[in-house]
Amino acid sequence: MVRRHIAGRGISDARVLDAMASVPREHFVRPGLSHRAYADGPLPIGEGQTISQPYVVAWMAEAAELGTEDRVLEVGTGSGYAAAVLGLIAAEVYTIERHAVLAEGARERLHRLGYGNVHVRYGDGTAGWNEHAPYDAIVVAAAGPDVPEALCDQLVAEGRLVMPLGRPWRGQSLVRLRRGPKGSFTREELGAVRFVPLVGQDELPLRNAPMRPPPASRPRPESR
Ligand code: SAH
Repeated sequence: MVRRHIAGRGISDARVLDAMASVPREHFVRPGLSHRAYADGPLPIGEGQTISQPYVVAWMAEAAELGTEDRVLEVGTGSGYAAAVLGLIAAEVYTIERHAVLAEGARERLHRLGYGNVHVRYGDGTAGWNEHAPYDAIVVAAAGPDVPEALCDQLVAEGRLVMPLGRPWRGQSLVRLRRGPKGSFTREELGAVRFVPLVGQDELPLRNAPMRPPPASRPRPESR
């Protein structure tokens, strides 16, 4: 899978390729689907959610430009697969999932497989995880119309945030925000993707050049 679908499609960061080759994806999919664990596609994990396509996991990890000392926040734990990959590359991974049953399953699985530097929290990831902020990199594994302001605030200077932006289930664009030394953000579009919706910011309007969401005083919808 790694040679054909990951390296074969242009991922070249050696640490990303090593991590992708090392995480046993069959442990992160439902038992009846383990024969498809190494095909390059998303698979259902329950609660209407999916484990991401391996190529996209590798693409986001590479785009986040992770260093071995980095502290990473992931929004959208799902199965815990991408968090395990990130955990093999970076120092600490903090990951948040809004479905309690998925968060619990991922926590148990990551513990059982020995990913001791991956920490799972059940909650609304659009608010980030302030206790462990700031992060060198933030990876958002669900698509929204705009980058939540709290996530921008929890990124270090020179930090990278990778997130799909766009309408749910429609054409979305994988975007990398880079925080400059003085706190301003630059934005790059990396390519087309299709992700499940980031729940918790549905009310935000889609803008052409999303950089900052409306003021924090705006009421947020319930996270579950
Ligand atoms: N990275 C995962 C796949 C993520 S699918 C893996 O490797 O398996 C996206 C996940 O984001 C879903 O599980 C969904 O429930 C979760 N999600 C959506 N909105 C969220 C939010 N506001 N906070 C936390 N998790 C959220």
